[in-house]
Amino acid sequence: MEYFTLNNGIKMPMAGIGVFMMSPAEAENAVESALKSGVRLIDTANGYMNESGTGRGIKKSGVAREDIFLVTKLWPTVYEKETAIEETLKRLDTDYIDLLFLHQPTDNWREGYRNIEKAYKEGKVKAIGLSNFPEELLQEAIDTMEIKPHMVQVEAHPYFPQTELKQKLAETGMGLMAWYPLGHGDKNLINESVFTELAKKYGKSNAQIILRWHVQSGNVIFPGSKNPDHIRDNFDIFDFRLTEEEMEEIAKINKNIRYYNGTPEMLQQYAKMELGPDL
Ligand code: NAD
Repeated sequence: MEYFTLNNGIKMPMAGIGVFMMSPAEAENAVESALKSGVRLIDTANGYMNESGTGRGIKKSGVAREDIFLVTKLWPTVYEKETAIEETLKRLDTDYIDLLFLHQPTDNWREGYRNIEKAYKEGKVKAIGLSNFPEELLQEAIDTMEIKPHMVQVEAHPYFPQTELKQKLAETGMGLMAWYPLGHGDKNLINESVFTELAKKYGKSNAQIILRWHVQSGNVIFPGSKNPDHIRDNFDIFDFRLTEEEMEEIAKINKNIRYYNGTPEMLQQYAKMELGPDL
């Protein structure tokens, strides 16, 4: 395993699993299977409504809590709720969260940020971050907030490598967690010939080559999968290294396209979604 060191000194594994679009029972199984395969980074969110299942998967795995890096995200409708973080901890059945994000930028994000800053100072949260925030709001957080964000979480993959944002992050020491690291499973991306050739050379799958590219680019990855073989494979990317020339070849397939094309207005509307039951 390779680790990313956050700008507050905390180390996080560079590969894990995300449980977006899983039912609580599916998240429970995926998390248990991932932890038993050696994965130590789990990414969930209030908005996925499977934090309880994630917590059960952690318990069932038998892996000690302190050996796991647990990431979750506050949903905008609870940014201002004083008990939001306590309720999140209760659903996850844990005393602390390793990294807590604000999930989306909304008009009330500053209040949400103060909420996560408070939890950070109280030790309930070990690091804080912003997900899906445009650069100007990220800059505002850096300039005006007492605790600077440690991480951002945004869409990133070889078709949309976030080159400009990464330059900015390098200046501040903030890290990048790449969502949709496999293009949400897009076969066009996964089957690009550059990955097929490198997969043959290294005796790996195309998906493993993409994930290795992320890690060597400095991105933390947490691909989604309910398939135990894929979960294991997605973590088995630390026994080979792509050359500089191969990294450059992969850079050529950048299409500057995102899979998620919601407008800021659509995001604002989506952020009003009330959380449903998380059982
Ligand atoms: P992904 O890019 O990880 O792709 C997942 C798809 O790839 C699934 O269909 C899966 O079956 C397939 N896959 C997984 N491993 C494979 C392998 N080894 N070989 C072939 N196919 C494989 O997309 P995702 O799961 O939607 O996103 C990953 C995580 O990102 C989510 O689980 C979630 O935690 C996070 N996320 C965050 C946000 C945000 O707003 N912060 C938004 C979307 C997703």
